[in-house]
Amino acid sequence: MTERKVLIVYAHQEPKSLNGSLKTIAVEELSELYHPEQFNYGVEAWEACKNGSLSEDLIKEQRKVKEADLVIFQFPLYWFSMPAIMKGWMDRVLVQGFAHDFPQCYDSGLLKNKLALLSFTTGGGKEMYSDEGVSGDIRYLLWPMQHGIMHFCGFSVLAPQICFAPEYATEEERVQMLVSWGERLKTIWEEKPINCAVDGYFK
Ligand code: FAD
Ligand code: ZN
Repeated sequence: MTERKVLIVYAHQEPKSLNGSLKTIAVEELSELYHPEQFNYGVEAWEACKNGSLSEDLIKEQRKVKEADLVIFQFPLYWFSMPAIMKGWMDRVLVQGFAHDFPQCYDSGLLKNKLALLSFTTGGGKEMYSDEGVSGDIRYLLWPMQHGIMHFCGFSVLAPQICFAPEYATEEERVQMLVSWGERLKTIWEEKPINCAVDGYFK
């Protein structure tokens, strides 16, 4: 089996949150299946050198992205988007010259050949995020994150993992949310990316 690397970018204040549990499931599931390759300091240092003008913490994050075959973003939905701290990560890490460099964007973005997946929880129920629901189709809020950020940087986007309203779910339903996430991760490398271009979204 080919060894692959996954980077989980996780934003939640509380480790005991459902987001914390979803992250733990992913770490357990993915590290059981795939053992990380050895870190090659020489190669990494050389890479970091080329981006010498950036601060060390950003270089570290970029190195993780560079090594990853799949980046999972795990977060609670805040104001129809990701939490500000995660948005800050995007602003600071996915910079021009690293993630994109016009005209190298979308299918020719610099992070092409990598996969990205949004895994998030909501406060609102599934019915609220339907076409007729008060919040509107969930695809409207996926659009800026999936197309405007991930695809723009070249990532191929896997279908999102959405846990609707865990706070209002029963314990059993919450356990089921975690189980289905773990199950999905077992075959994650077989998944085909979604069509997240304009024609795929708004046809
Ligand atoms: P938690 O409250 O941590 O989880 C729910 C329950 O699951 C908890 O009781 C926890 O103990 C339990 N749990 C944890 N692990 C396990 C386990 N292993 N097994 C069983 N149970 C477990 N929502 C929207 O829909 N749209 C918005 O625009 C929006 N904007 C927001 C903006 C802000 C600033 C804030 C603070 C919230 C917003 N919300 C919004 C709500 C937010 O998305 C939800 O509160 C959040 O997604 C819930 O996820 P959580 O991980 O915090 O849940
Ligand atoms: Zn797209």
